[in-house]
Amino acid sequence: MTHHVVIVGAGFGGLAAAQGLAGADVRITIIDQRNHHLFQPLLYQVGTATLATSEIAWPVRHLLRKRKEVTTLLGAVTGVDTENRKVLLEDGGIVAYDTLILATGARHAYFGHDEWEPFAPGLKTLEDATTIRRRVLLSFERAEREADPARRAALLTFVIVGGGPTGVELSGAIAELAHQNLPEEYRHIDTRKARVVLIEAGPRILPSFTEDLSAYAHASLERLGVEIQLGQAVRECSDQGVIYGDQPLAANVILWAAGVRASAAAAWAGLPADNAGRALVEPDLTAPGHPEIFVIGDTATINAWHGKPVPGIAPAAKQQGTHVARTIRMRLRGNTAQRPFRYRHSGNLATIGKRAAVIDFGWIKVRGWLAWWLWGLAHIYFLIGVRNRLAVALSWLWIYATGSRSAHLITQGEQRPRPN
Ligand SMILES: Cc1cc2nc3c(=O)[nH]c(=O)nc-3n(C[C@H](O)[C@H](O)[C@H](O)COP(=O)(O)OP(=O)(O)OC[C@H]3O[C@@H](n4cnc5c(N)ncnc54)[C@H](O)[C@@H]3O)c2cc1C
Repeated sequence: MTHHVVIVGAGFGGLAAAQGLAGADVRITIIDQRNHHLFQPLLYQVGTATLATSEIAWPVRHLLRKRKEVTTLLGAVTGVDTENRKVLLEDGGIVAYDTLILATGARHAYFGHDEWEPFAPGLKTLEDATTIRRRVLLSFERAEREADPARRAALLTFVIVGGGPTGVELSGAIAELAHQNLPEEYRHIDTRKARVVLIEAGPRILPSFTEDLSAYAHASLERLGVEIQLGQAVRECSDQGVIYGDQPLAANVILWAAGVRASAAAAWAGLPADNAGRALVEPDLTAPGHPEIFVIGDTATINAWHGKPVPGIAPAAKQQGTHVARTIRMRLRGNTAQRPFRYRHSGNLATIGKRAAVIDFGWIKVRGWLAWWLWGLAHIYFLIGVRNRLAVALSWLWIYATGSRSAHLITQGEQRPRPN
């Protein structure tokens, strides 16, 4: 019987593993709870009305259509029977494996305050992005009709919690939307007066970048009109706004970009995990005591970057997927030697609005418009398919030249404990 590899998760790590196994003598089943692979680095642009959902996500089944040995299944995994080598699905389905690759990623976390989620959505899925877009655009709509000045001010206050790349990108894009793109569309409010407040508990934004790049990003965001509050943790999120430090701030829109928690993969397989729920894996990315199970990407943690933890970014997940595929190929040829994974870091990137970015390649640092163009080219290169590359490039050039955003749509309703 042909060796059966089951991959759970069709994100960056899972897809790289499937690609790395092309031509190997295996059957592959790839299971994901969503029918699409999502390019998360551009998710904030869907949330801020720059790109459409279909420009950054692709049906997994379509991506793998030419690989006859690959079966794609839509389903949520809820457990792994490691003894009998079976993956358990939420709907009662069971999929047996010879080798299992768990690549189920991570989600945002609220530091033990999950009750904040309805008031402060995070950004991880297409639904999250359209929820954010709807809340942001609806806030302007409601402000246009609001007679009470205090209430109008709250409707025009946008709080972003967390000063990492996602918080910086969201706040820069919302500030540009409010201060540059929307003013001429409204008659009763001046959207240039909207407040965009970025709250970071640490001493500086972009802590994973060098101090000079972080200072540059800080100054660039302030130029776009973002207010940055450092050294103050958010203590409360509610339908009234936030409390950070001792200060209440009335705000209709709060966006959460602070903290992540791994998927439950470690718990499914009974594996040791760190505080963020990431599985602690062996140097070759296998689960301790289970050489037939690999755990990769954001749902695992390993000190394979010159002794430091591998960062939770797309290139790391891809490298791990490729590494695991090679290990499986070697095993099939009878070579069972342990192959430790070593991470190669190519750089940190973050964009600040549509005219500046910061890039730290380690050997060289770039900032400003040149960094923005490099950032844009890199992201276009990593998108899947010529059509999407052209569509995204065209959307950006159009916005760059005219300032008008095409994805300005309020769609879908939502269930939440307050009206919006
Ligand atoms: C807003 C945002 C911006 C980012 N920006 C950047 C960036 O600019 N550069 C960068 O390098 N990285 C960025 N990242 C991080 C990067 O996206 C992740 O590191 C990368 O996606 C991790 O890959 P992965 O394969 O581990 O998980 P993912 O790509 O998250 O894939 C996990 C997959 O598993 C599926 N899944 C989860 N649970 C289950 C289940 N129970 N059953 C079945 N399927 C399941 C999910 O649907 C998903 O398809 C960003 C992340 C976010 C959220």
